[in-house]
Amino acid sequence: MRRHLPIAVVLAGIVAAPLVLPEYYVTLLNYVGLAGIVTLGLVLLTGIAGLTSFGQAAFVGLGAYATAVTTTVYGGTPWLGLAAGLALTGLVTLFLGFITLRLSEHYLPLGTIAWGIAIYFVFGNLEILGKNSGIADIPPLSLFGRPVEGAGQMYVVIWGIALGALLAARNLLDSRLGRAIRALRGHTTMAASLGIDTGRLKIVVFVYAALLASLSGWLYAHFLRYVSPSPFAINGGIDYLFMTVIGGAGQVWGGFAGAAILTLLREWLKDLLPRLFGHDGNYEIVVFGLLVIVLLQRTREGLLPCLARFVPTPRRSARPTHAEPLPRRQQPAAGEPLLEVDQVSKQFGALAAVNGLSFDIRAGEIVGLIGPNGAGKSTMFNLITGVLAPSSGQIRFRGHRLEAMRSREIARLGIARTFQHPSLLTELGALENAALGAYLRGSAGFVAASLRLERAEEAGLLGEAGRQLERVGLGAFMHDTAGSLPLGSQRILEIARALCADPFLLLLDEPAAGLRHFEKVALAGVLRSLREAGVTVLLVEHDMDFVMGLVDRLVVMNFGQKLAEGTPAVIRVEPAVVEAYLGGVR
Ligand code: ADP
Ligand code: MG
Repeated sequence: MRRHLPIAVVLAGIVAAPLVLPEYYVTLLNYVGLAGIVTLGLVLLTGIAGLTSFGQAAFVGLGAYATAVTTTVYGGTPWLGLAAGLALTGLVTLFLGFITLRLSEHYLPLGTIAWGIAIYFVFGNLEILGKNSGIADIPPLSLFGRPVEGAGQMYVVIWGIALGALLAARNLLDSRLGRAIRALRGHTTMAASLGIDTGRLKIVVFVYAALLASLSGWLYAHFLRYVSPSPFAINGGIDYLFMTVIGGAGQVWGGFAGAAILTLLREWLKDLLPRLFGHDGNYEIVVFGLLVIVLLQRTREGLLPCLARFVPTPRRSARPTHAEPLPRRQQPAAGEPLLEVDQVSKQFGALAAVNGLSFDIRAGEIVGLIGPNGAGKSTMFNLITGVLAPSSGQIRFRGHRLEAMRSREIARLGIARTFQHPSLLTELGALENAALGAYLRGSAGFVAASLRLERAEEAGLLGEAGRQLERVGLGAFMHDTAGSLPLGSQRILEIARALCADPFLLLLDEPAAGLRHFEKVALAGVLRSLREAGVTVLLVEHDMDFVMGLVDRLVVMNFGQKLAEGTPAVIRVEPAVVEAYLGGVR
């Protein structure tokens, strides 16, 4: 119960506020709620998915102007205004998303600034929007046939919607889609390798955040009953981003905390500073700037996580259930051709990282791909899994040509992989990381996840994750965060995640690196049991004892080419291999 205490206190405060505070403060809290709805979207977009937007104020404006025009010019109801605002924002952001979300790194924030400015100028220049003087006499909202008037009544509507949006976002993040959204931040290659359509998901999150902004704009217009362009300028967008970062972009409450801190602090400073300095002026802007810099210096993650350290709130971790096991694919019959790599080359500029390599894998085999550092092994994995496209040659998998396919399409065919450098969501539990691997085995969408209508499916996915963790020997670490595990265990966790995809072919890039001897023995046991279960494995490994005792066949690479191929017994005495590779080791 203790972990619910801080939230219960905050909720009680929100409920009690309009009853005990003077109207001035209720109005301020309304602004906090309005900004909080926008920053909630930014938490998802920027904090969780890693896409920085300076342009959210423009979407608030779209929502506000849409309802202002609908109600004053066309005489529609505010509800029609809401529908118009959401539809307009949805269309505009789909378009903007398609053109800007392809931009990477610093180009994306620049793109958001560009549209933020552009939309603002549209507001200020259109005749129907009242140009710079805006639109006045917007009618109040009406609920159950009664107008919603005054700060106190609006408070109930604004905070009701804010808390509803918060709950929906929290539910969403705690779902299969939520895990996928988290993977967008710095792990797109990994996400794609699990079948996640990262491009599409980015756009959906972007639209989701913009719709929240638009919703806030709708409330704003009917609260103030007047709109003009200035609150929707790029400064507004910067403010929202500040609020999010200062409060804590990593959790749903963070944006609200930041909105509260900035809004209240700004009011106090506006009061206090002119008195301190003895004459008028916008000193609060300067003090504010300094404050933001200090806060960011001291608390990278924002204030909320910083405060959370003083109020111990053990992280709620998902639990595996005893749900029915997920349906499994029929593994191909042992010996059936699975993967054929045919004269494949990959050129990086002048470097031939892979050079005319051919080999094949049959169902039920464990094949080792060995060779010195830089031989091209990881590049070969990237070619098979669609991270890279081959310069020439063919890769066939169960009748499909892989060369021109994307990672996520290849994942669907039943190829799963691990990475030489583990790619894990370090703040999330091992169980949730493993469950990410089962992404393609669920189908619930945003609405179902936000409303928690997908709990049966989610239980199935977490149950599968729990089983696979136990299968690889990490059952005891299910509830530890992935980042707290030793590197060797992180590699094994990636195997569990890959297994959650129920693959035909498992590609493991140096799975035993960093393991101690007894852990290697255990891993070899796991891989053998996988073979018994019909899973085929292609394995890159450096530890010769580990490989030799495990694999059916070895492909030896050097300088991108195949040096030799055969059973461990043959390879061990192959002169070219002994000279190029094993010579140094044994
Ligand atoms: P291995 O996994 O066998 O150690 P890699 O496949 O990682 O080797 O690398 C093979 C060669 O290709 C190395 O010389 C490496 O520097 C180069 N290489 C790998 N990836 C890239 C890339 N994206 N761009 C340029 N060169 C690369
Ligand atoms: Mg490598």
